[in-house]
Amino acid sequence: MRFCYRCGISEEEGGPLINGLCQVCFRKENPILLLPGEINTELCQNCGSYKKRGVWIDPQNYELDALIFEVAENALLEAIEDSLDKVREFDVVDWEELEEVEEIPVGKAFVAFRVLDYHIEHFPAIIVYEIRVKARIHELQVEPHDETVTTTVYIRQTVCPRCQKFLAGYYEAILQVRVEDREFTKEEREEITKLVQEKVDEIMQRDRMGFIQDTIEKEEGIDFYMGSTSAARKLANAIREKYGGVISEAYELVGLDRQTSKEVYRTSVTIRLPKFRKGDVVEDRHGRVYRVESVDGKGMRLKNLETWESDHFDWKTVKREKIDLAEHEERKALLMGQTPTEAQFMDMETYETFEVRKPKEKLEDGEVYKIVKVKGRLYIKEKEGGE
Ligand SMILES: [Zn+2]
Ligand SMILES: [Zn+2]
Repeated sequence: MRFCYRCGISEEEGGPLINGLCQVCFRKENPILLLPGEINTELCQNCGSYKKRGVWIDPQNYELDALIFEVAENALLEAIEDSLDKVREFDVVDWEELEEVEEIPVGKAFVAFRVLDYHIEHFPAIIVYEIRVKARIHELQVEPHDETVTTTVYIRQTVCPRCQKFLAGYYEAILQVRVEDREFTKEEREEITKLVQEKVDEIMQRDRMGFIQDTIEKEEGIDFYMGSTSAARKLANAIREKYGGVISEAYELVGLDRQTSKEVYRTSVTIRLPKFRKGDVVEDRHGRVYRVESVDGKGMRLKNLETWESDHFDWKTVKREKIDLAEHEERKALLMGQTPTEAQFMDMETYETFEVRKPKEKLEDGEVYKIVKVKGRLYIKEKEGGE
């Protein structure tokens, strides 16, 4: 007959013995949930991020109460995971669900936790948790481990490294938005700024340093001071995709890193928007006249003002065909009448009447059209106020 060496119970009564211990003493000698009574964690008071396994991440919740519980639960689960080193895996289940758990394979634990008490009106926020674990760690175990402990999580405020840099005015790159050979209009500036802001929100989900430190409006364009070079590049690409243009980069030595004594460069990413805009009148090397219908990353859609046929020209073709702004005069005129090939107009200012060769499309009598004159020849550009 064998006996438990700790409590003296016989194997018949308290067995089977595991390493000389009865079932109860084996569980007592080998507790599996060794949580500290106090767990400390912190969140960034500026952006709400917190550390998950040592890496700063953005929170799921931005509402403060929910955020505090999110941060506390993360710290609690990390502590539970660290303490459960006698099992290979564990599942987190609801408190009520754990009550029902009976069949537990060796090497597995089921964990549940609930809030006993909390004070989150000010920092440090305090949440008291009760944690219960059921587990089996030895194949001779009849009853599983069933342990309940309480711990208190303290959540303090700090400023994450990213926000420290942001608040100190740090930037790594400048995104410069410029235009080619023309004025940068207010509408365009607003559109680009909006696009940049939307894209930054997207980038920040992956690149925490992708923030805009500062935006500076200049006569020649807009400068965005960016926390990361890759974010500046992504933004330049997003702008090019939508509006076309050419991207270039320049580097400036700004000093030495005091810790690594490596040279530190600052990158300027410049996107130069194309010279052409929707509504421009352009001309190719053969003297064909077009109206620019749209501009994008690949090229532009041009409407031949003689035939009113429209086609997409990629940037290579635009260059090869020497398409450029056409010097022209523009006036508004009322359509008085038309034949299959001619349209009669009356100038809205001078009341002078004149004829213009018209495209096959039917025009609308009594409507006002914009008429352009290029190299002495008249073209119907578009209906006033229309596309
Ligand atoms: Zn015993
Ligand atoms: Zn932060």
